[in-house]
Amino acid sequence: MPLAPDELEDLALTCRRFISDRISPIEQRVDDTDHMDPHVWQGLVKESVDLGLYTANVPESLGGPGLLIAEQTRLWEEFGHTTWPFTYLLARPHRVLFECTEEQQERYLEPVLAGRRTQCFALTEPDAGSDNSAMRTKAEKVDGGYVLNGSKHFISNGNADFAIAFAVTGPPLRGRTPQVTAFLVDQGTPGYTVGKSQRMMGWSGMDECELVFEDCFVPDDQVLGPPGEALRLGLASVAQRRLQIAAYCIGAMERLLTLSLDYTRTRVVFDEPLYSKQGIRWLMADAAMQPYLAREATYKAARLCDEARADGKSEVELSRLFAKEISIAKLYASQALNRVADVAVQVHGGMGWCREYPVERLYRDARVFRIIEGADEVHKEIISKAL
Ligand SMILES: Cc1cc2nc3c(=O)[nH]c(=O)nc-3n(C[C@H](O)[C@H](O)[C@H](O)COP(=O)(O)OP(=O)(O)OC[C@H]3O[C@@H](n4cnc5c(N)ncnc54)[C@H](O)[C@@H]3O)c2cc1C
Repeated sequence: MPLAPDELEDLALTCRRFISDRISPIEQRVDDTDHMDPHVWQGLVKESVDLGLYTANVPESLGGPGLLIAEQTRLWEEFGHTTWPFTYLLARPHRVLFECTEEQQERYLEPVLAGRRTQCFALTEPDAGSDNSAMRTKAEKVDGGYVLNGSKHFISNGNADFAIAFAVTGPPLRGRTPQVTAFLVDQGTPGYTVGKSQRMMGWSGMDECELVFEDCFVPDDQVLGPPGEALRLGLASVAQRRLQIAAYCIGAMERLLTLSLDYTRTRVVFDEPLYSKQGIRWLMADAAMQPYLAREATYKAARLCDEARADGKSEVELSRLFAKEISIAKLYASQALNRVADVAVQVHGGMGWCREYPVERLYRDARVFRIIEGADEVHKEIISKAL
């Protein structure tokens, strides 16, 4: 059941208040120290669970609110007003966890929904990023389970309580993509180690880790979804994840615009506020077009997905049907955010490069959205193939 417009706006307002009251006051400190205090974080998780934000992506059949994709998009836009590590407080359970069996739900999904256990999504490898079919981590079938060998890298929140880890379990049935299976691997399992945290340009306070599997035995009841079909399973979450990023970028652009307007109206140069200079106003006008256009593309894709869902299409089908529209939204929004971040730094002058001002951090954080969830070139391939 779609929410009434005022119900959705109430939920968006809940996000806004949560961010302004609880997150904004600590955002700068987390960046300065590159450390998220675990006690503070656990408190935020509890609040987010209580507010219903933590499970905003969960279908009604699993006890969630069953929000439409366009409705979730609205909430992600709000979370664009904080830095990415804090978005781990919104819609946290990974979509692939909805494939858990009943027994797995009890051990993995339900504790995640309650904010008691954390998960990470471990797909990328040093030699397999954009090209998942080059995956080298292997899972060999043995009596009662599988033995995993290989490594992953760039895994956000890699220190989580358990990993959703992908491994090759068979040769390609057609084409060059091997059969890949997803496994639920608990922290502390013999043969599973979380390697070093990789230092990144932005997203301070969040760990991107290497994961290593050395003769790591995982029992059959920790296989997630049908064996050999994990890449198709991953496809089921593509629409949601890519549109989440597009929507986040829209909110981040709005934040940068507000900061830039405030600054250019008060900063005086050559006896006048900066904003009175036509050259600056035109920069701002160009920047203002970006979230406007990104919003059109993102909500259009979200609505198409919702309509297809209402017609009974599966998540995999809608990710395929609207691959072009989803890619256009993600590609446009992430590039647009980088254009707006550049304008924001420019109009702030030296202050734009100074750590005392948030635009410096937002500029650093923006770049990676053109790489994750399909880099620009991957989306251009998807769009051009659909033409
Ligand atoms: C901060 C951060 C967090 C991440 N978190 C996770 C996570 O939690 N879980 C996870 O599994 N992964 C994660 N990743 C990995 C991310 O998904 C990959 O970095 C991404 O898929 C790109 O892969 P790659 O880095 O290996 O680049 P490559 O695949 O090596 O690509 C390098 C460049 O070549 C381009 N390219 C690739 N193919 C083509 C082509 N056919 N034609 C033209 N150009 C092409 C790419 O667009 C890119 O610009 C994270 C990455 C980062 C930086």
